[in-house]
Amino acid sequence: MPPSADASRAANRPPGAATASPDKLVAGVRAGDRRALAKAITLVESTRADHQEAAQRLLERLLPETGRSIRIGVSGVPGVGKSTFIEAFGLYLIGRGKRVAVLAVDPSSALSGGSILGDKTRMPRLAAEAHAFIRPSPSAGSFGGVTRRTREAILVCEAAGYDALIVETVGVGQSEFAVASMVDFFLVLMLAGAGDELQGIKKGILELADALAINKADGDNVARATQAAAQYRAALNLFRHATPEWDPPVVTISALEGRGMDAVWTIVEEHHRRLATSGELLHKRREQQRAWFWTMIDDGLKARFLAREDVSRLLPAMESEVASARLTPTQAARRLLGLL
Ligand code: GDP
Repeated sequence: MPPSADASRAANRPPGAATASPDKLVAGVRAGDRRALAKAITLVESTRADHQEAAQRLLERLLPETGRSIRIGVSGVPGVGKSTFIEAFGLYLIGRGKRVAVLAVDPSSALSGGSILGDKTRMPRLAAEAHAFIRPSPSAGSFGGVTRRTREAILVCEAAGYDALIVETVGVGQSEFAVASMVDFFLVLMLAGAGDELQGIKKGILELADALAINKADGDNVARATQAAAQYRAALNLFRHATPEWDPPVVTISALEGRGMDAVWTIVEEHHRRLATSGELLHKRREQQRAWFWTMIDDGLKARFLAREDVSRLLPAMESEVASARLTPTQAARRLLGLL
């Protein structure tokens, strides 16, 4: 497979992140210097062991400055208008005096170099703003690696003083669950279809969403969007939301015309206020940290297990014995785990 454009871009990055003094980098990030911020994230994204160690030391020092932003996930199928929305919403927030960072989790970019989410070229007007920082999805490595790096990039952006963090993702595979598990508020963008709104809806998405926004409610599409919104509202009533004190609202917006940005922001703020008052926000973030910690342990254990010479020697045989029903999965797993 040819290396993706993003991967080769990453490989061509100057080694500045590794050589900059840690003190300077910490000071630069704290001062909100975008170059320092970019360097710090490059360090966090690097898979080199020495970079990883430096990145963890950096994060440790920045940790006291994190946690003060509103973290917003934005999801939806390709073409729904995510980048158009994030640009319009980001500009709206900057107009309200916010500093906005856009990050992305794109499971497809590692494979195809395809739709690199969070790409500046998809949001040129936002990218030109001094109070915006846009970082495309890391393209190399496993899905677990990509989500870890995005989580850590969130922390670095917070330490740099960004108060609205937008994490973009496509509705592919586990990416929505991963993003929902790293944000305070999860917004799902939808389109009005031809009447059968609920057919194409991905299982689980209604449980994840803190709000739905039906996009492209403009021109002769307004009536259909309004109708779709009513259907989604009815559908949401059938689900118990994860947060008892919150009923996910459904709004219609036009990202292209910049309409509905205030409505979305009012919802995000209200959600934040309510969860903060009840203590739910703190609880949610603590649980997210704990879950992340255990994911890191799970991933680390598995990687060490697979790196063992005796395991990798036996593994193919065990797998084929299981596949051809000569061994039960439990027996095969026990035999391999017995090597530990
Ligand atoms: P993404 O793949 O989800 O990031 O979608 P894009 O933001 O790239 O938008 C896909 C297409 O839909 C583009 O041609 C946009 O101009 C168009 N689009 C996005 N938002 C709207 C909207 O609110 N109204 C209309 N009419 N078109 C939109």
